[in-house]
Amino acid sequence: MAAPADLQRIVIENCAIATVDADDTEYASGYVVVAGNKIESIGAGKAPEGLANVVRRVDGTGHLVTPGLVNTHHHFYQWITRGLATDHNLFNWLVALYPTWARIDEQMVKAAAQGSLGMMARGGVTTAMDHHYVFPKNSGDLSGAIIGAASDMGVRFTLARGSMDRSEKDGGLPPDFAVETLEGALAATAETVDKHHDASFDAMTQIAVAPCSPFSVSTELMKQGAELARAKGVRLHTHGSETVEEEQFCKELFGMGPTDYFESTGWLGDDVWMAHCVHMNDSDIAAFARTGTGVAHCPSSNARLAAGIARVPDMLKAGVPVGLGVDGTASNESGELHTELRNALLINRLGAHREAALNARQALRLGTFGGAQVLGRASQIGSLEPGKLADLVLWKIDGIGHSSIADPVTAIVFGAAAPVTLSLVNGRPIVEDGRLLHVDEDAIARSAREEAQRLARISAEA
Ligand SMILES: [Zn+2]
Repeated sequence: MAAPADLQRIVIENCAIATVDADDTEYASGYVVVAGNKIESIGAGKAPEGLANVVRRVDGTGHLVTPGLVNTHHHFYQWITRGLATDHNLFNWLVALYPTWARIDEQMVKAAAQGSLGMMARGGVTTAMDHHYVFPKNSGDLSGAIIGAASDMGVRFTLARGSMDRSEKDGGLPPDFAVETLEGALAATAETVDKHHDASFDAMTQIAVAPCSPFSVSTELMKQGAELARAKGVRLHTHGSETVEEEQFCKELFGMGPTDYFESTGWLGDDVWMAHCVHMNDSDIAAFARTGTGVAHCPSSNARLAAGIARVPDMLKAGVPVGLGVDGTASNESGELHTELRNALLINRLGAHREAALNARQALRLGTFGGAQVLGRASQIGSLEPGKLADLVLWKIDGIGHSSIADPVTAIVFGAAAPVTLSLVNGRPIVEDGRLLHVDEDAIARSAREEAQRLARISAEA
């Protein structure tokens, strides 16, 4: 695809490249030409000569270039409640933390979003998502604060506008004061879509409709949420089949397992992606494959909460789109997506398929193209191909951590988190030499600590 002649170009060369295209094309030494916000050309050897408007040449010697990582499940606000309830299963962990979470306000959420986004961006994430579902009364413009944090940092972003309306008095887990009404949640979600969702090819902000989970949301909110999303043409997201306790809860409350419940409420489809999906039988996986429903696999969080091992190899074999998720940092304190590439591979090898479960290239694909698929953006991001958006990362693999690992992709998946020398989103640098370019990292660290302490104080007083 030829770019208009006046577009500014960035030329990256002398690097290994893993494109993660349909054929897994790789170059031992190649080049990428970025024109404006798109990839113009990519290939082996040196970049074409005579390119006009080259504003920057990057010598990628000692680096691997991959598509930017895509995170498909997170809860940013949890950045300020890390390290709590460390030895709990999901339900006990939720009950322990809900009373604290219910005290969050706009200032806290902003600090937490900056911390969450900053950590991921420094580690090669170029597209982030936040599933935010705690909206205490009079807590301010939480969605605006989160979207603002992503836009300040330059990260491409999906906000899954969550909600809860099934509290303790209705047999749910959240305390009564932490939930919205059915009407309130739907109206606020619709307003967020209208105000912030951008459907264009190079959108930096998209919104999804995202009631929290079957055990914190009424059946009516599930059904009307799905109708709202389809009326607005946006995607749907929620938690599904995370634990054995959830499966039990669904059977007691609805007389069916989670996947059947999702189907009965309009929640299977190629515009839906679901976090976790750990407890899925063969017919659940077949239903996801048949409908094109996507999965956000969150191996570290599933391990921390002892939820189990999602059957990722079986999902992939059946044709289910699968991406990776950090999940909230109250259940995965590291908050890095790189860790999920590695843990997806390692943890799935502890399951039925053993050493054949996943290889390094499949893990990289989950964290890039797979993520783009479940966010509904596979035609725009997730692989390095001419015409796609220029979201890419230069991983330094000639340093002490990686120089002796035989293969570049193996180095970044099996090895330690590789330093990020340069990260581009929409053709614009957001990280250089491991530092965030558009925000003050040290100020973010300070305000995250202060807001975590303020939240702890407020919830202790309550
Ligand atoms: Zn989650």
